[in-house]
Amino acid sequence: MPLSSKTKKPSKTKKLSKNTKHSKKHISPSKANVIYLDNNGTTKLCKEAKKEMVNWLESRANPSSDSIISKKSKELIEYSKKYILKHCGTSSDKYEVIFTSGASESNCFILRSVVEAYKYHTGKKPHIITSSTEHKSIIKCCKELSDNKYADITYIEPNAYGCINSDLVKRAITKDTALISIMMANNEIGCINNVKKIGEIAHEKKIPFHTDAVQIFGKYKIHLESSNIDAISMSFHKLYGPMGIGLLILNNDLVTGYGLKGQISGSQQNKLRGGTENVPAIAGSIAAMESTFMNRDSKNKKMYMFKKQIINELKRVLPLGDYKSYFSDKSPTQNEFIVMGPSDNGYRKPTVLPNTLMLSFAKNNLEDGKEFCNIELKKKLDNKNIIVSIGSACNTSDKNASHILYAIRAPDVVKKGIVRISLSDNTTKSEIDKFVKELTNGLDSQNMLESKNSNKTKKNKIK
Ligand code: PLP
Repeated sequence: MPLSSKTKKPSKTKKLSKNTKHSKKHISPSKANVIYLDNNGTTKLCKEAKKEMVNWLESRANPSSDSIISKKSKELIEYSKKYILKHCGTSSDKYEVIFTSGASESNCFILRSVVEAYKYHTGKKPHIITSSTEHKSIIKCCKELSDNKYADITYIEPNAYGCINSDLVKRAITKDTALISIMMANNEIGCINNVKKIGEIAHEKKIPFHTDAVQIFGKYKIHLESSNIDAISMSFHKLYGPMGIGLLILNNDLVTGYGLKGQISGSQQNKLRGGTENVPAIAGSIAAMESTFMNRDSKNKKMYMFKKQIINELKRVLPLGDYKSYFSDKSPTQNEFIVMGPSDNGYRKPTVLPNTLMLSFAKNNLEDGKEFCNIELKKKLDNKNIIVSIGSACNTSDKNASHILYAIRAPDVVKKGIVRISLSDNTTKSEIDKFVKELTNGLDSQNMLESKNSNKTKKNKIK
């Protein structure tokens, strides 16, 4: 906090930190000693990224200036763009890389730019196809475009497991469809859409295809051309890079052929995104990307095996329910847990992200009249320094619940029991052991383990 002009400036910084109220309470957020299982929210900056960022933090090499020192940052940006395109199996003669402030900006950029370009070139109101499971940045931007009568929007509804059926996308195309935007992997359920197929459908009708690849970009290599992707959004804080920086990669045909214009005016980044580039963040992002993709397969395997461990250990204390039996909105006949999302297909040809596990704890209310409360469970875990996420709370009103759970039409009993876990490359076995133990204790305290087969489950309770 800046000192007010009336405050006497202490002579030593040490004294300042000792005397200020702020410093007493201040705990470095990165030092907080927690078991962090909400990595789809954000990930911890890796040491490689931090080192690169520190190297650049004091640099005055503005890439747009013509000073002799600016050369270095220009080179860094050029190298970074080339590196990213090569990683995505392509090059600058086909695609353009734009650094943004994050995926929310990238998503809004592509939607708004396409709408503007389509209107400008055809004089008609564009139609956009997206899905109801997209990130809020897409959903809200589409709502604004439609509320302001700039575009018509079709939201494809997912199946019960959160996946988008490409046939529904095909059927939604109209003569004015200007863009199809469907996410690659969902941030809550982790389900992975067949974007290659959706892109193929788009291209048959000469419609550009955009995908939000935030959650999958750091876990699997994405080949843009063979996956039929014309525009892709990603964010570096999801792959151990800094917050506040992301990418939009665009097919050159979209930029030149469609006549896309940027949303922030300025001369930088081919006039597509004005503003001085965040050079330290770019340096850190590339370092994070390089480090993330070292031994990627074994990192994915490790997280996948931890997910299996969680499910297997839960099965020892609580029956695993079948989500299909909830489609008719009936109450469970026993206390049980459900693994949300499509059926598992391993981590090499995944149907679900290897780090993401959405569980629901469904209680047979008839037993004691009390519902399972995932807020209470979350608080219990919080008290043990374990951080998870709940997509929808046991006592929250509809407007606060996750739109994804509404999109998949999850029945109330399922919505109320949601607990979301997303692992990181650095999650350890001992963290998972502790998590399972505390989760089981939390479930027990809500009488979740007191089902008809309670004797059996109690005996098996994890120590
Ligand atoms: N898209 C998806 C699927 C996300 O999970 C997120 C962040 O949670 C975003 C977009 C937004 O990313 P950013 O925080 O970089 O704006």
